[in-house]
Amino acid sequence: MAEKLLLRAIKGGKNTHIITLSGKKIIKIPSTLEKLPDLKTLYLQNNLISKVCPEISALTQLTILNLGNNLLEEVPEEMKYLTSLKKLHLFGNRICRFASGACDGLQNLILLNLNDNHLTWLPQDVGRLKSLTHLSVNCNELASIPIELCFLKDLCELQLNYNQLTCIPEEIKFLKKLQKFLLVRNYIEVLPEGICNLKKLSILDIAGNNIQIFPPRFHNLKLTEFYCEENPLFLKQPTVALQQEDIWSLQEITSRYVMNQLAGKHPFLTRAIEHYPEVRNLISQAKKCPICGKFFLSIWLECVRFVPPPKKWKISRNLQLVPLQVLICSYKCFNRRDPDLFGIAQV
Ligand SMILES: [Zn+2]
Repeated sequence: MAEKLLLRAIKGGKNTHIITLSGKKIIKIPSTLEKLPDLKTLYLQNNLISKVCPEISALTQLTILNLGNNLLEEVPEEMKYLTSLKKLHLFGNRICRFASGACDGLQNLILLNLNDNHLTWLPQDVGRLKSLTHLSVNCNELASIPIELCFLKDLCELQLNYNQLTCIPEEIKFLKKLQKFLLVRNYIEVLPEGICNLKKLSILDIAGNNIQIFPPRFHNLKLTEFYCEENPLFLKQPTVALQQEDIWSLQEITSRYVMNQLAGKHPFLTRAIEHYPEVRNLISQAKKCPICGKFFLSIWLECVRFVPPPKKWKISRNLQLVPLQVLICSYKCFNRRDPDLFGIAQV
């Protein structure tokens, strides 16, 4: 039946570069497609296709393929032969995995729509989709995203709404062209500091997560829209912190000493440190106390500062003040803090 429909579509169509066979209850992709190597656009959405036929591999000129709302269970291996493909729609299937090699030939793909499937993970191979600018994987079961995804240098839109993400990798900072980032309804508790490096980011939606505080420099983002409803954001309520003595580990004491001597350009240590790459690596992770200006390594007090949202941000109603994370070096400095810095009660 599908073959007949195809013939009819070819005869009836004015443009032989486009075939539309959507909503025809097709179970099997017509194999005669292989006789149309110049085909540019193929619409097969809203059918009952559970497998892609091998003949589709002949469509090396195809630029748009829509297989949305079918019964596929994987991103088919045959995709790797569709080397001209620019837009691939696979939404509304039952996809729970990528066939091995599926991403291999998709060097020109700019849009991939995998919304409404059953993916629990994305393969590292997505890093091979070098031209990708738009990726949406809304309404799946993703528990994490692969770091390789953060190296798609042209990606400008990333939609991951309604998944089970608990964190976002720090490497997100490498998505230099990202403009739109949607993370609605996940289980994210902390946004990575790297997000503050996304200079092009203009729309960020984190509604429905578990975020209490934002990384330092977050308010410097040039957002136009920011939505954060239904997050347990810190509100401006002073908490009484216990004024304990600080107990530091030997490593912390030593590294603070070394880091602060280095900051003062201590001649002997400055020379000596050249011979200890591991120590250099360790102290490169140093943080600077905003109160005393000194460096510390791994023991700190987490505080929160509330800043008004930048005027250019279009924001959700629940956000009166943006709670920003501030790390300080000691209780000594905590006791010297200015009145708009609040301690966070340790639960
Ligand atoms: Zn300090």
